Amino acid sequence: MLDIKWIRQNQAEVQAVADQKGISLSISQLVAYDDRRRSLLQQLEQLRQDRNRLSQEISGLMRSNEREKADRNKQQVKEINQRLSTVEEEHKEVETHYRQLMLHVPNVVSPDTPAGSSDHDNVEVRGAGEPTRFDFEPKDHVALGELHQMIDIPRGVKIAGSRNYYLTGMGALLHRAVQQLALDVLIQRGFTLLEVPLMVRTEALVNTAHFPLSQSQTFRMAEEDKWLVGTSEVPLVSYYDHEIVDVTEPIRLAAISTCFRNEVGSAGKDVHGLYRLHQFSKVEQVILCEASLDTSEQLLQEITANAEEILSLLELPYRVMAVCTGDMSQKTYKQWDIETWMPSRQAYGETHSASNLLDFQARRSNIRYRNADGKTQFCYTLNNTAIASPRILIPLLENHQQEDGSIRIPEALRRYMQGLEFLKP
Ligand code: AMP
Repeated sequence: MLDIKWIRQNQAEVQAVADQKGISLSISQLVAYDDRRRSLLQQLEQLRQDRNRLSQEISGLMRSNEREKADRNKQQVKEINQRLSTVEEEHKEVETHYRQLMLHVPNVVSPDTPAGSSDHDNVEVRGAGEPTRFDFEPKDHVALGELHQMIDIPRGVKIAGSRNYYLTGMGALLHRAVQQLALDVLIQRGFTLLEVPLMVRTEALVNTAHFPLSQSQTFRMAEEDKWLVGTSEVPLVSYYDHEIVDVTEPIRLAAISTCFRNEVGSAGKDVHGLYRLHQFSKVEQVILCEASLDTSEQLLQEITANAEEILSLLELPYRVMAVCTGDMSQKTYKQWDIETWMPSRQAYGETHSASNLLDFQARRSNIRYRNADGKTQFCYTLNNTAIASPRILIPLLENHQQEDGSIRIPEALRRYMQGLEFLKP
């Protein structure tokens, strides 16, 4: 959420960002609703004042036996009450439209965000490692998963429909191993681990700016005002809803959670294997900090570096991409994605997404801190993936496969994999 005062002063800029981010929104319509609600509010105040004055006069007039005047006043009060209910109704309606439009207003974007309309326009910031070369015909992760009896997609589909899977034996262990490795890295970096609710109220999704725009991606619990989260960013940020927090030191939070996604609009896309699923697990990093561009930029670097460290420990080639305006979500000010080399796709595939949101979520969630002057101010929030599995199993299995079908376990993972150096078929 942006401040309406600021929006009014920067209408052309906000409209341009909405257009760049592909959000259908008319800022002039929003401002017109804001004008109307302000004018209706003024009318309401005036009518209430008049009514109070006339009502007070009535008792005086009755005492001094000026019945005729008192009756006139009573008639006027009656008319004002009728007018009030009409204006109140219109105000309520205008306020609802105004709030709806406000929820669609995008965050502004950082000056160093590349302009562009899709992920093709994202710009590489840096890379690590080279795409893996094989001197044999490499298998894809589905074939490797079958060979090792680690991934069972047919039974996942049988039980839960498309984009579902079972991980079995070493597959399930590997899935847990990468998450524990990521978590250990974050704990060493001072993150506090939280176990979070995965079914949340609508308000939490609105406040963290996942709703209304991503509502169609979210599974609703039938008959209840509750939704299955698509990321633990929602309960992590919402933990401090309507609170005043101490961000003298940035608050670093982490959670492992299952994530549920409808993936509506992805029909026919990435249908093979473990890339795009309805359910996956993610270790997430969330930071709340003071409202400072410099501090939040440093923290964006920090959470990106954490993810890069995890990928280095997994010995995977990756590249960091500056995400362009058209590929950014409504709430994001600056975004860096990390893409990891996936041999079966002969391409880098997105495995991590780091965002600086400034005070966009905190304003909606009413999360504030006391600044140096003792005044309350909305804090800034950031988030990034630490690891998302099973998508990360695609590069892990495919890049580390050997000619005989065995899979080398990177050294840093072995302690979570019963000390195994290789998985043998
Ligand atoms: P996001 O929360 O959308 O920024 O996604 C963070 C990471 O979660 C992505 O970079 C992927 O690694 C993973 N991810 C997102 N959506 C899916 C999905 N539908 N299936 C599997 N993994 C996903």
